[in-house]
Amino acid sequence: MLSYWEKKNLLNYDLVVIGAGFVGLSTAIHYKENFPGRSVLVLERGVFPSGASTRNAGFACFGSLTEILDDLEKTSEETVFDLLVKRRLGLKNIRSVFGDEALDYAPSGGFDLIRPQDEACLGKLGYVNGMLRTVFGGEVFEMAKPKSFGFGKEISHLVKNRYEGQLDPAKYLKCLWQKCQDLQINILTGAEVTSLEEESCKVHVHSFYDEDIIFQGRLLAVCTNAFVNQLIGGLDIKPGRGMIMVSEFIPDFPWQGTFHMDKGYVYFRNVDNRLLIGGGRNLDESTEMTTDRGINSVIKNYLVEQAKNIVFPGKNLLWENEWSGSMAFGEMKRPIIQQVNARVAVGVRLGGMGVAIGWEAGKELAHLLGS
Ligand SMILES: Cc1cc2nc3c(=O)[nH]c(=O)nc-3n(C[C@H](O)[C@H](O)[C@H](O)COP(=O)(O)OP(=O)(O)OC[C@H]3O[C@@H](n4cnc5c(N)ncnc54)[C@H](O)[C@@H]3O)c2cc1C
Repeated sequence: MLSYWEKKNLLNYDLVVIGAGFVGLSTAIHYKENFPGRSVLVLERGVFPSGASTRNAGFACFGSLTEILDDLEKTSEETVFDLLVKRRLGLKNIRSVFGDEALDYAPSGGFDLIRPQDEACLGKLGYVNGMLRTVFGGEVFEMAKPKSFGFGKEISHLVKNRYEGQLDPAKYLKCLWQKCQDLQINILTGAEVTSLEEESCKVHVHSFYDEDIIFQGRLLAVCTNAFVNQLIGGLDIKPGRGMIMVSEFIPDFPWQGTFHMDKGYVYFRNVDNRLLIGGGRNLDESTEMTTDRGINSVIKNYLVEQAKNIVFPGKNLLWENEWSGSMAFGEMKRPIIQQVNARVAVGVRLGGMGVAIGWEAGKELAHLLGS
């Protein structure tokens, strides 16, 4: 049974946010900054956020050349351009709010590895640079030399994106936690929301620990990304599991940067003198359409092979870490930030872009809730 004190002080809020990933915490922060006098509670089912925000690769990216060209085949130039601008702005804003040191941000540049079958993209480099010139004020993509990185012989060209960087996603999360603390936003972890129930002037948010605990919010933001279907129906959301491996320590690690291959489906970077490699979801898309954690051995073997044949040809690395995280995708490659009704709004479907656009998605959602 809840105590008198718990019932009196801990259950009622102006805004309840479900999900303490980048989007949930950013929503809470922007809302509280807009309305300092209002109370905000964030409920998270994991001990840490347990979707994608601390399980990603930390690419502070807005799209490689092959990824942008792939997007342009599926959707209009205007939509692709809008998303690029949002990603660019999001990165600029988190760097200016939290600072590069706190985020462990390194402006190391991004690179697209081009194989013979990708070479058609090189003819469109000038066109994409032209499209991005107004946003970046200069040429984004330029040719670099694959030989200077020692990549496997299948890599015929390398395209550099000088505006891309990398950060430590868990440090970014700690920055968000700190900001929440400064703003007196309450975060409860181990608090899985099991169901929602609406009344005319508030939303009941059910959680369970020994008994049904019912939080009440005048407003509710659902920021559970890949898991949103469990609470809100009718959204175009498909979960997508992504896996990552980190190698043993490699003395004299030879380069720095974030690298993409195969339209961004495979990616790797340096981290603390180790190789981080991830992706390969497209190899077994139907199995990976899940919110379950786990390692797909087909994908793991493929990534091990890419590391051995392309990244460090002939080298058998030991892999000391492997994990998976849950992303959310849909027909359109853009977040869903919308009101479900007068009291409830969602901010979900961040795809593989949440490092860059999580902060901006939270800002937009907080604005919706406040209007
Ligand atoms: C392997 C991998 C690599 C990636 N690499 C990159 C990258 O390099 N760059 C990039 O920009 N993006 C990358 N991403 C994507 C990025 O991590 C996500 O877009 C971003 O973290 C999404 O943030 P979010 O807050 O929307 O979702 P999440 O971080 O998933 O947060 C949702 C939260 O809701 C919680 N939750 C769910 N259901 C409930 C419930 N019922 N009750 C309470 N809490 C609940 C979950 O536990 C979770 O913590 C990657 C993702 C993965 C998985």
